[in-house]
Amino acid sequence: MADRKPYVAGNWKMHTTPAEAAKLAQGVVKALECFAACDVALCPPYVCLAAVGDAVRGTSVKLGAQNCHGEIQGAFTGEVSAPMLKAVGVTTVILGHSERRQFFGETDAGVHARLKGVLAEGLEAIVCVGETLEQRQQNITKDVVGHQVRAAFNGFTAAQMATVTVAYEPVWAIGTGLTASPAQAQEVHAFIRGMLIQQFGPDAAAAMRIQYGGSVKPNNAKELFSQPDIDGGLIGGASLKVEDFVAIVKAGA
Ligand code: PEP
Repeated sequence: MADRKPYVAGNWKMHTTPAEAAKLAQGVVKALECFAACDVALCPPYVCLAAVGDAVRGTSVKLGAQNCHGEIQGAFTGEVSAPMLKAVGVTTVILGHSERRQFFGETDAGVHARLKGVLAEGLEAIVCVGETLEQRQQNITKDVVGHQVRAAFNGFTAAQMATVTVAYEPVWAIGTGLTASPAQAQEVHAFIRGMLIQQFGPDAAAAMRIQYGGSVKPNNAKELFSQPDIDGGLIGGASLKVEDFVAIVKAGA
């Protein structure tokens, strides 16, 4: 895994009330006390950010959001901006999740604009890319992922990319119980790393972390995370259970 520190983030999606979120976050923090081998982020729904922020304050666990608008403020009902997230203690933001692309019409251009807003505020980002089952079956996985990577990162500098993590999440593996095999995932991760080399040079690309996401569980995390270009994971369902999430985090070490 070169000398990149593994990074595991929990995407809680539209789950938990603030009280449930606080309990879950407290459980994770307690279980990971004195554990520093892996970076960890918790990304609850917006309304739970304050509760999770309280639970992770003073620890190395990052507070993450699940999305962010590219503009600072304005007439964008239902959206939140990077300065708003920063003000409540968020340090990292997931962008371009396939559920945002699939169900809410987010585009590559939109992901790029959102990333601009996040980086301008000094926040970190986890940018998700990945192909659908149909695209994999058509053998166009690399075209699709390549396009998403180029579109998201085009125009940014290598220095800006230092705070960006890529999450490769095959859409067909998210929440389905189907997981890319370690070899399938590694192949796409290596492809993405190759694109980052072209865009930002070998040093910046070697330092960037590429997470895998898609039905990662305690029983498959170790094998996935031990692939040379897989630097941890973005975890959905299994991040809602303290024991499962902690086991996955520890598999990254
Ligand atoms: C995700 O939401 O990013 C994800 C990977 O979900 P799951 O782990 O449930 O497949």
